[in-house]
Amino acid sequence: MNESSRNRLVENWQRTVDDVAASAVKSGRSRDEVRIIGVSKYVDSETAAALRDAGCRDLGEARPQQLFEKASRIKRGSVTWHLIGHLQRNKAKRVVELADVIHSVDSLKLLRSIADYANQCGRAPALLIEVNISGEPDKHGFAPQELGDAWPDIAAVASVSVIGLMAMAGLQSHGGDAKRQFAAVRELRDSLRAQYGADLRELSMGMSGDFDQAISEGATMVRIGSRLFEGIDGAGKA
Ligand SMILES: *Cc1c(COP(=O)(O)O)cnc(C)c1O
Repeated sequence: MNESSRNRLVENWQRTVDDVAASAVKSGRSRDEVRIIGVSKYVDSETAAALRDAGCRDLGEARPQQLFEKASRIKRGSVTWHLIGHLQRNKAKRVVELADVIHSVDSLKLLRSIADYANQCGRAPALLIEVNISGEPDKHGFAPQELGDAWPDIAAVASVSVIGLMAMAGLQSHGGDAKRQFAAVRELRDSLRAQYGADLRELSMGMSGDFDQAISEGATMVRIGSRLFEGIDGAGKA
């Protein structure tokens, strides 16, 4: 990685930190209520490590295979690893061994597999339940109504820690639409709290293009990728 890319990465990171903080403050929240997950899926391990060195200690990957590769190349313990994309059960064991946070728990079956592996390997990644808030048929996640019905079964799975909900605005959603969808996630969280006493303190929502709306609706984790790698040589599309 060349010097100018490295400098640009530091600049992009700083600007993102500032903009996320400004969004939080604008919504009457404190800047440290919102954690930035740097989504490293567009870049190689060297660039991901440079992002860490710039100050981003939370890295997210959408694909298990990429998480395995980067986690093997980046000093263990120097970053908190997040899996943010779809997880098939045949990859769950290794993800449980390597990830600290799994944002994309989208079925009861997957949750139960994760719990089994967590027991076996004595590791317990924090989990978020993915909600298909846009209702787009090709998106993963529980439909909001379905999640209400499934909650008692989810809560009954022992030895896992479900810390929140994750969602993505629909591809066709701009401005107001995305904001309404994020608000719906927060309302769903509030109703699960009221009905079942669920401790869902984290809301993982918002990406490069819509983190401001997500933060205004209560996001505590934003997953930001492309914006961090603008102007970086070799940063591609995942
Ligand atoms: C790629 C990805 C992101 C980051 O999106 P950007 O628009 O590049 O910031 C966030 N969440 C998930 C699940 C992703 O796959």
